[in-house]
Amino acid sequence: MFDRALDLLFPPRCLLCGRIGEALCMDCAPNRAPLRRTLGDIEVRALGPYDGAWRRAVLALKEGRRDLAAVLGARLGAALASDDVHLVGIPTSASRRMRRGFDGGECLASLAAHADGRMASRALIFAARDRQRGRSRAERLEARGRFRASEMLAAGTRVTLIDDVCTTGATLADAAFALRARGAIVERAVVVALTDASRKRPR
Ligand SMILES: [Zn+2]
Repeated sequence: MFDRALDLLFPPRCLLCGRIGEALCMDCAPNRAPLRRTLGDIEVRALGPYDGAWRRAVLALKEGRRDLAAVLGARLGAALASDDVHLVGIPTSASRRMRRGFDGGECLASLAAHADGRMASRALIFAARDRQRGRSRAERLEARGRFRASEMLAAGTRVTLIDDVCTTGATLADAAFALRARGAIVERAVVVALTDASRKRPR
């Protein structure tokens, strides 16, 4: 309701051409078949390459443009495969979240899920450093990587990772490692943009 009132006062404008309507219009960032690349054992789908419109959109999202999250979330929703049921956003570190005011990965995952009638679960995975305080030594040892999956995650849950940009796939691999340690099945990620580095990586 409040958002609608704000939309009337400050209608969204396209980041690139400035036209009133959407934060990223179809002329500037047309819908195409997603790019596909396999990084390690994860199939990555991206809305586009990390240059031009998609690069500017990712950078503006990182700067805290929430209106872009709605557009990008909906586009990600449309790029999902039929068996992408459970979406988990790659969490941002606490310091970045403070700067931006929201968690980009979680925000994209919930908007993508909302756009396409899927499920998004918050708090299934954490940036490991965020949760160090108040944890037992055993729990800290378990958090080997950058991420830690929640004990609420049911074994056998098929998870699709959601993120803004994928470079080498290392972040996706770390998140998949943490989720798989809890028994989740992670085979795919859907991201806004893929950089060239992801192409140069062997296999
Ligand atoms: Zn435009």
